[in-house]
Amino acid sequence: MLSRQDAIIRPIMIFDLHTHSTASDGSLAPQELLSRAAANGVTCLSVTDHDTVDAYANLDDSSCPGVTVVPGIELSTNWAGRNIHVVGLNIDPSNSDLVNGIRKQKLARLQRAEKIAARLEKKGMDNPLEEVTKLANGANIGRPHFARYLVDKGIVTDFRQAFQKYLGNGKAGDVRQFWSPMEDIIEWILAAGGTAVLAHPAHYKLTNTRLRLLAEDFISAGGQALEIVSGIQTKQLTAKLTRLCDDLQLMASCGSDFHTPGNSWSEVGKFTRLPANCRPVWENW
Ligand code: AMP
Ligand code: MN
Ligand code: MN
Ligand code: MN
Repeated sequence: MLSRQDAIIRPIMIFDLHTHSTASDGSLAPQELLSRAAANGVTCLSVTDHDTVDAYANLDDSSCPGVTVVPGIELSTNWAGRNIHVVGLNIDPSNSDLVNGIRKQKLARLQRAEKIAARLEKKGMDNPLEEVTKLANGANIGRPHFARYLVDKGIVTDFRQAFQKYLGNGKAGDVRQFWSPMEDIIEWILAAGGTAVLAHPAHYKLTNTRLRLLAEDFISAGGQALEIVSGIQTKQLTAKLTRLCDDLQLMASCGSDFHTPGNSWSEVGKFTRLPANCRPVWENW
């Protein structure tokens, strides 16, 4: 049992293992994200940008001694025709297999951006690729950059409408992008010494049976953990994902999936607590 003194000395650990910076579709520079995480009490942070580790190039964690930075990435893949995300945690960002894989993903992103832009141009929009490239400012281009373009042009009122009308499932911007297969992206993560986590399982809108199939395929490909907490979520969802995690003997991860300040449901360091009975992904770090 913890003594009273232990309880005082041992700080509360908050692991936010899923966040985004300006290296992909987040709005804070990596250093600003780190400061915000520290201010919100995060003790362990992973910046997991979409298909890039560029955030780590100039990230200096000495300014926030209370926060341990664990390098990470969120890689895109497909499963049964859906876009699926796998978070790689505690990776070596300089590993050559990972670096080569990221190069392929970057090319795929660029080609997809060209396709999305061509489709929007057919709908009468003016030079979207050039505008979106400017908005991305060197970052990996994602659909949120197109959403920003559509809002800025007054074509839609907000991001939600941009996805509903132009970028979401079945819309012009929903280019069937063949990312590298799940086996490959997990292989890169493992080669880089990392842990592969199936990100935000509830986002894929799968039935329980199909979600289990996805998780089983993920395990066959070498996946090790399930992100059972993504931001603020219901008790029912946490319980369901904890059961799945337990049944399949996966480790458990958690994070905010923070992108930008001002979204009360997705703030860095703020998310539903991981249940005490699961095996956290950081257990062996
Ligand atoms: P991409 O990586 O280019 O496929 O874009 C996916 C990203 O778009 C996600 O990581 C979210 O940040 C964002 N996103 C997806 N769906 C929506 C939505 N309905 N509203 C706002 N942002 C969304
Ligand atoms: Mn995103
Ligand atoms: Mn994601
Ligand atoms: Mn994410």
